Amino acid sequence: MDAPTLPSKCPGYNIYVDGFQALRQPQVLQASNITHVVSVIDWKFKPGWAPLRGVQHLHIPLDDVYDSNILEHFPRSNAFIHEGLNYWPTKSSEGLDQSGVLVHCAMGVSRSATIVLAYLMWISRQPRSIQHPEKNSNPVPSSATEESNDSTPEMISLPPTPLTVDSALALLREGRPHVEPNSGFIKQLRMYEAMNCPTTQEQLESHKIYRRWINSRNVMDALSSNRAPEMANITFRDEEDESDDESNSNINDQMSGLGLSSKDAEITDPDISTSSSPNEAASPAPEVELKCRKCRRLIARSNFIIPHKPPPHRDPSVDGSMEPCAHVFLHPLSWMRDTLAQGELDGRLSCPNLKCGANIGKFAWQGLRCSCGGWVTPGFGIARSKVDEARSFKRGSGSRLGGAPAAGNAVRLPPGMRRSSGNGNL
Ligand SMILES: [Zn+2]
Ligand SMILES: [Zn+2]
Repeated sequence: MDAPTLPSKCPGYNIYVDGFQALRQPQVLQASNITHVVSVIDWKFKPGWAPLRGVQHLHIPLDDVYDSNILEHFPRSNAFIHEGLNYWPTKSSEGLDQSGVLVHCAMGVSRSATIVLAYLMWISRQPRSIQHPEKNSNPVPSSATEESNDSTPEMISLPPTPLTVDSALALLREGRPHVEPNSGFIKQLRMYEAMNCPTTQEQLESHKIYRRWINSRNVMDALSSNRAPEMANITFRDEEDESDDESNSNINDQMSGLGLSSKDAEITDPDISTSSSPNEAASPAPEVELKCRKCRRLIARSNFIIPHKPPPHRDPSVDGSMEPCAHVFLHPLSWMRDTLAQGELDGRLSCPNLKCGANIGKFAWQGLRCSCGGWVTPGFGIARSKVDEARSFKRGSGSRLGGAPAAGNAVRLPPGMRRSSGNGNL
């Protein structure tokens, strides 16, 4: 009788997901042709430990918690799994041998599933050629003739379209119904998808979405210990690489939709994490410019404004909430650098025009409450009474932001799509 094989196989791939106990069943591993094992678990593996003898092993020590950075391991785990699946590029004379990859964590639910989902998403975006590096130069004619009669000559099949997080999860659940990455891992998978699944570590870590997320994590780390963030961890939105300018607003949309903007306060004190979701709030008109009321210096374009809304429990029929908000909240901008470099947790914001220097607002890393009751964290609030709202009807009007050379990244909409707002209030 054949030995039992591992129960949870991802359909279409020789990838198995399981808990730690799978390692304790050597005959099952053998019967499943496991040649490669990925251990996503913070566990001290002894060198030469019997269950791992004879297999290639990748160890990713990681806890199954919301804010573990599992994303940074995807390039390495993808390469390892890919190598594992193509380990024996041709079948043996018996036509049975195929390599297999076991990805396990403790229970085979969250961590291991996340690693496999990342692989499924990544491989579905690769040109077919890289899946079978040996195929075109296969020097073994007998194998080739065998394969011509075989309906399943390929070890892995290419899905017709790139997998999303949801479609990859649906596929994996066909093989293991109870896989359930934790919410932080799902978020990171969605980020990976939004980045179009970078292959190399360098591509990942240089990506704008990843850098912004890492900065945001570092900022939150500092705040949770009541420190102002390091300058190196502050993303000044007007200084981000503009080479992919046309996708900038797109990325902003993606980040907002994922709750990944720098105001993502989910890992901080719950008291300051009540800021509303930006994608639910009404966006201000896209081509608005805020200018210092005193000297007319440009303070911010509307794509640097963080939308917010009152907390949901407020009844709009009471307390005169028809009043417009007293503040406009901004992402950190380069003209704030000198102020923020002083390392204070909060303080005043002055007009970037040094000759003017008007007090135009305030900032607080731990968050500011608007007059409407909504929190924005971190808060960079400009008092509406100190600025004028100017509309730029021409594209690339040439006005510059706080003297910075980066112009032209305002959200562009055709004239018919401009929002009108009655009296100049945002
Ligand atoms: Zn001014
Ligand atoms: Zn408000």
